[in-house]
Amino acid sequence: MAGSGVRALRYWQEAGATDLLVNEGNPDVLPLLRANLAAPIATGAATLASNDANRAFFQCYIDDNYYDIVDVDGFGAPVPWLSTSLWAARLGGLVYLASTDGRTATGHLPEQSLRMYGARARSHPAAHEQGLRLMIGSLQQQAAVKGFGIAPVFSLFRGEVYRVMVRLTKGQKLRDHNYAYLAYCHDCGNYQVLPWHKIGQANCPHDGLPLTLSGPQWVGELHDRAYLGQMHAEAIQRDWSDVADWLTGAIEEAEMPPYFFKLGEIGKRGQMDIPKRDRLIAALRDRGFRASVSHVNREAFKTTADLQTCIAIAKTFGDSVS
Ligand SMILES: [Zn+2]
Repeated sequence: MAGSGVRALRYWQEAGATDLLVNEGNPDVLPLLRANLAAPIATGAATLASNDANRAFFQCYIDDNYYDIVDVDGFGAPVPWLSTSLWAARLGGLVYLASTDGRTATGHLPEQSLRMYGARARSHPAAHEQGLRLMIGSLQQQAAVKGFGIAPVFSLFRGEVYRVMVRLTKGQKLRDHNYAYLAYCHDCGNYQVLPWHKIGQANCPHDGLPLTLSGPQWVGELHDRAYLGQMHAEAIQRDWSDVADWLTGAIEEAEMPPYFFKLGEIGKRGQMDIPKRDRLIAALRDRGFRASVSHVNREAFKTTADLQTCIAIAKTFGDSVS
């Protein structure tokens, strides 16, 4: 999946990587790849290979040669490499996955998601965040089989691309409370996290109606706040203001509930003008709720309050100040 090799080159040139195994399954691309990576190959920092990715991962395992970062950037869903990429990563190392398959992850193909992730993904307003959480959850489950846990470093949805970076750890094992179901009520629009032991009580606490269950998926923190704080400091130092802005939002949302509410839904259900996001977030915090932006959708917000509370607060703003 190395393609033109530009990312491998950046790992070497910008991140100072000293040992790169650059694998590209398509042998036709190798001459170009060899030319583009001539400098790191000459210094011995990069090795080229043209294997099926799974063979490459298992070769690392056979050779006892584990990497700090395994970057898996293919097309579509990352499923063919989701479990095998773990065999090439060292304990404490990072697995970095990409997916461009939004349809499966957002609940449009629930049977397909069952086959791919072992999770039944359903459709709801926060389904793009679920695309990140299904990948993390699936990695987590695969790591658990090997006796390991995972900790997300960061999760990114942009355009139609889902990207997650997780650390393979000995701690933070798969548990009922971090690998669970997201339950959505199509009637009142509220969410709740439903651990496995409560699946038998899958009714909406607001109106008693049956809930739509989506998962299992990762329902823990979306990013490592402390790590993002370091990235933010570096982004400021490098004058990368758009990256710093993104990181500010990600730090805010890192430990918030695994869903968001859309501002448009507040307007629609409350039959009023759409409230300003930052004003609503501030008002929710004033009333003691946790609230943040969502990096997945700029026209949405995260909070520990229920949707009806958000609508009631937005109504106090009045029409003139929407
Ligand atoms: Zn409900």
